[in-house]
Amino acid sequence: FDINTITRENVKSLKPYSSARDEFEDFDTAEMIFLDANENPYQNGVNRYPDPQQVSVKAILAKNNFVKQNQILLGNGSDEVLDLLFRAFCEPKTDNIISLPPTYGMYSVLANINNVENREVLLTQDFQPQVDKILEAVDENTKIIFLCSPNNPTGNSFSDESVVQLLQNFKGLVVIDEAYIDFSDKESWLTEIDEYPNLVITQTLSKAYGLAGIRLGVCYASEAVISILNKIKPPYNVNELTQQKAIERLKDSEKIKQEITSIITQREELLKVLVEVSFVEKVYPTEANFVLVKVDDANKRYDQLIAKGIVIRNRTSQPLCENCLRFTIGTEEENAVLIKELKLLS
Ligand code: PMP
Repeated sequence: FDINTITRENVKSLKPYSSARDEFEDFDTAEMIFLDANENPYQNGVNRYPDPQQVSVKAILAKNNFVKQNQILLGNGSDEVLDLLFRAFCEPKTDNIISLPPTYGMYSVLANINNVENREVLLTQDFQPQVDKILEAVDENTKIIFLCSPNNPTGNSFSDESVVQLLQNFKGLVVIDEAYIDFSDKESWLTEIDEYPNLVITQTLSKAYGLAGIRLGVCYASEAVISILNKIKPPYNVNELTQQKAIERLKDSEKIKQEITSIITQREELLKVLVEVSFVEKVYPTEANFVLVKVDDANKRYDQLIAKGIVIRNRTSQPLCENCLRFTIGTEEENAVLIKELKLLS
């Protein structure tokens, strides 16, 4: 793996954005007069630009996850992080990426936006990567393989063996999207970032951490990969309110754990009911905060639930997902209403 050969040509020579304030780290900033950034000087809590390097947020994440701060990049949601990966490593019109449908839709959306070919290699019937076929699809212009584990919308995670085979045999980046990792019993791949220079992990505060509204995504990778991403990230991509809220929430690990436990309890309750529902043909195993279910007629069942005011996701048009519906796990009260309606429809 050579970071230089996979970096987009024009990105190699770029320098990260630096603000005038980067140079004053050793000063007591409280005593300084800031007339450098054309801000309104009157204090209201957010009249100043946020920290472009988000040092306080990264310090907590680094400590919690046993990584160095320079192995972290933050984005406006993990969607922005994914986009930055395309922009840093994929030459439009020339390069390609590989994604494994059925999976999260943004890999394909971002490939299209960035004018990068998306090579799709279907998962197996039990939703595992076909490693041989993926490696056959690789050519000298393949820059990234996107693995989503646990996978959205299927709910399962990928076998360690397939992930390791890809990490060892592919010379580009293997991105593991761990948006749902906190709901799984499996360990994050984070412990392996020092082992594999081509491993990139994305996580988010939108799911288990309950902060979808603030948009904070996290990328963990080698220092070399992170320093390339730093060259192209928008300077103030994580706003002040987001940074404050994230710090507050990350410090409340007990509350987060409790919420995850409740969600998993509700998930197990729902699974028990779903297998008994007459129109349900298959309930797929899940390690996430949602469950994929094959029914007799997805469109019909979707409409029936909408009529009851319950919105779920109809995944029937996705490959391997014919007549499949995806249910996100709600609160105990929401779950009770869903279960009641499912029984009535059964
Ligand atoms: N990855 C996966 C697998 C997702 O399902 C989602 C959200 N649906 C995201 C990333 C995007 O997360 P964020 O809110 O951090 O942009």
